[in-house]
Amino acid sequence: MADKITADLVLTGGTVLTFDAAGTESTALAVAGGRVIGLGDVDHLVGPDTRVVDLYGRTVLPGINDSHLHGAWLGALWPGTLMGAGGMGEGAAAPQLTSPAERRAAITKAGDIVAALGITSYTEPGLGPGEDSGQTGCFSTGVLDEYAAMAAEGLLRARVTVLRLFGELDGPSTLADFERGMASRVPATDPRWLDITGVKIFADGIPPMRSAWTHRCYADGSQGHLLVDGTDPAEREANLRKMIDLAHRAGAQIGVHATGDRSIEVTVSAMADAIEAHGHAGRHYLIHGDLVGPDVLARLPGLGIGLNTQPGIAVLTAPWLAAALDEDAAAGAWPLRRALDLGVRVCLSSDAPVIEPDWRRWVAAAAEWMAAAPSPELMRHLLRAYTVTPAVQDGAESWKGTLEIGKAADLCVLEANPLHAAPADLPHIGVTMTVVDGRVVFEA
Ligand SMILES: [Zn+2]
Repeated sequence: MADKITADLVLTGGTVLTFDAAGTESTALAVAGGRVIGLGDVDHLVGPDTRVVDLYGRTVLPGINDSHLHGAWLGALWPGTLMGAGGMGEGAAAPQLTSPAERRAAITKAGDIVAALGITSYTEPGLGPGEDSGQTGCFSTGVLDEYAAMAAEGLLRARVTVLRLFGELDGPSTLADFERGMASRVPATDPRWLDITGVKIFADGIPPMRSAWTHRCYADGSQGHLLVDGTDPAEREANLRKMIDLAHRAGAQIGVHATGDRSIEVTVSAMADAIEAHGHAGRHYLIHGDLVGPDVLARLPGLGIGLNTQPGIAVLTAPWLAAALDEDAAAGAWPLRRALDLGVRVCLSSDAPVIEPDWRRWVAAAAEWMAAAPSPELMRHLLRAYTVTPAVQDGAESWKGTLEIGKAADLCVLEANPLHAAPADLPHIGVTMTVVDGRVVFEA
C-alpha cells in the first residue's frame, strides 16, 4: 500500500483567494514539499506531523511579488527611504556596502522586511559591473554574487529575479560596456530562488528632474536626452537600439527604464524591430513609463511588452511633474487605467527604497490614481498586478503566482479579505503570516 500523503501545513477556516483564471475561492489550503497539494476539503491530508493553522476567518492570497524592488539597497537604507523625508533626494543618506558581510547583511535585512509584508518574490532591477565602483555598492557584481551564494546556501527568504546592469544606475551607459557585459559570466543558480532573466537599461531619467527625454519642453526650455552614450541624439538612439537588439538576440529579458514619451517611443520601436527580426517575444517591459503616449501604449499588448509601474511614485511626484512640464502632461501621465483597459501586461511595484515597499499603500494609491469606485473587481485587478502578472514577467507563471494544486506554496495571510475592503483601508489590514516554498518565513 502506498504511503498516505500528508500535509506539512494546513490553513483552514478562512478564505483562500487562489487568483486562478476562474477566480476560485476556497476555505482551506494544504501544503507539502513546498507545493499546494489541496484546496477546500483538506481534512484527509492532515497527519500526525501536520501543522494545522486555524485562520479564524482570515484571508490567504498568493504571495506578493514586488516586481521592481532594489533589495540590497532597501536593506542598507531601511528604515530610511529616498523620498522618506517627503522630498526628492531629501531622504536617507546613501549607504555604502563594501564587504561581502555587509552585502549579506543588507540582503538578509531585505528578506526580513519583505517577509513581514507578505512579499514572497521580488525583482532586483539592476545589478552588475556598471555599479562596481558606484557610490553605494548596493548594485554591484558583488551583490549579485552574494545573492548567488545565499541562494546556494538556502538562505533567501524570498525568490529573487535579477536584471543585470552594464551601465550606471540612473546614469549613463556605453555600447562597449554593454557588449562586454553581455559576454560576461552569469552565476549558475537555481532559478526557482534566483533567476537572472536579463538586463536593465536606463533610457533616460525622470520628468521631475527634467532628465526624461520628452517631446514637450520643460519650463526651462530643455527636453532631456537619452542616457545611452553617443556623440549626438542620433548616435545615442542608434546605440540604445543596438543594445536592445543584442540582448534580445541573446534571449535575455529586457527591462528599460523609460519615462519620457520620446525615450518610450524609441524603446518600444527597438523592441518591436528586434521581435520582428528574430521571431520570438521576450517578456520585455517598460519600467515606470510615466509619459507613455496612448498610441505606444496600445501597441504593447500585441508586442507582448509589459509595463512595470509605480502608483505610489505617480501620486507622490504628481506636483513636481506638473511644475516641471505642465498640468496637461501631469494629467496624462502614468495612464494606469488605460493600460489595464487595453490589456497591457501591467505589473505594479514599489521601486523601494525610493519609497517604502508596503504594497498595501501602493494598491490604495493605484485606486486613488485611477479615481476608481471601490469594488471587489477593482481590487482583484490591482492585486493580480502584484501577484499573477509579475509571475508572468518572471516567466514563472507555470509554477507560481496563483494558489493552485501543484504550484509553489508562496502565500500570505491577511487579517481581512482585501477584495471587500475600500482601497484606502487596505494599508490597515495586517499581514499575519508569510509562507515561501511551504516554509513559514514570517508570523505576526
Ligand atoms: Zn528602480
